[in-house]
Amino acid sequence: MSIAIALDGPAGAGKSSIARRAAKALGYIYVDTGALYRTVGLAAMRNNVEPKPSAELEQLLASIRVELTFNETGEQIVLLDGEDVSGEIRTSEASKMASNISAVPAVRAYLLDLQRDMAKTNNVIMDGRDIGTVVLPDAKVKIFLTASPEARAQRRYKEMAEKGMDVQYENVLKDVMERDYNDMHREIAPLKPAEGSITVDTTELDFEQSIEAIINVIKENR
Ligand code: C5P
Repeated sequence: MSIAIALDGPAGAGKSSIARRAAKALGYIYVDTGALYRTVGLAAMRNNVEPKPSAELEQLLASIRVELTFNETGEQIVLLDGEDVSGEIRTSEASKMASNISAVPAVRAYLLDLQRDMAKTNNVIMDGRDIGTVVLPDAKVKIFLTASPEARAQRRYKEMAEKGMDVQYENVLKDVMERDYNDMHREIAPLKPAEGSITVDTTELDFEQSIEAIINVIKENR
């Protein structure tokens, strides 16, 4: 039997970078499910399909192929109709589109089996918003990773500024809060701690301390 760790939490809590390192340390596969929503969002953008329920969107879903694979260093690669879109899905436009399109039930249903299949055959740390509540409710360990909106915005701001992007902290904070609101208030699979989940708050922790905290929670509970 493979072991599944569900890791949920709001945008910017550092889930993906923390999960990537923890997975490496534990010898698990890291699955970033946000990349799947971003990829569907990208497909919709490319085809000028609105991120809301419609026959057009259903047709789009029926016509695209979304796949997750891993390169030789274990990094996750996401393919849209065979094309590596791992870089293109990281723009802020793609983030917003992903957030909007992830509220469409048909999109969530479309991605459900793909996510479950990954956990059937591998030990995984799967990161998302509804992994512990919907995708893998029987996960061995469920973690809700969070930090204050200000701490998350500060980290994201620093990251963007270091990349030379011209951004303002106030705007980053506004984005973080908007995305929190969208993720927590949608009707389908809203972001909330799963039953039996352990909350880890990284507001006062640095990156290395956060990784250690997650690894410890997993080791103590798996
Ligand atoms: O985690 P990331 O920021 O890449 O996710 C992009 C968007 O996809 C989020 O805003 C969230 O709304 C959505 N998402 C989701 N369910 C998941 C993972 C991501 O709804 N399991």
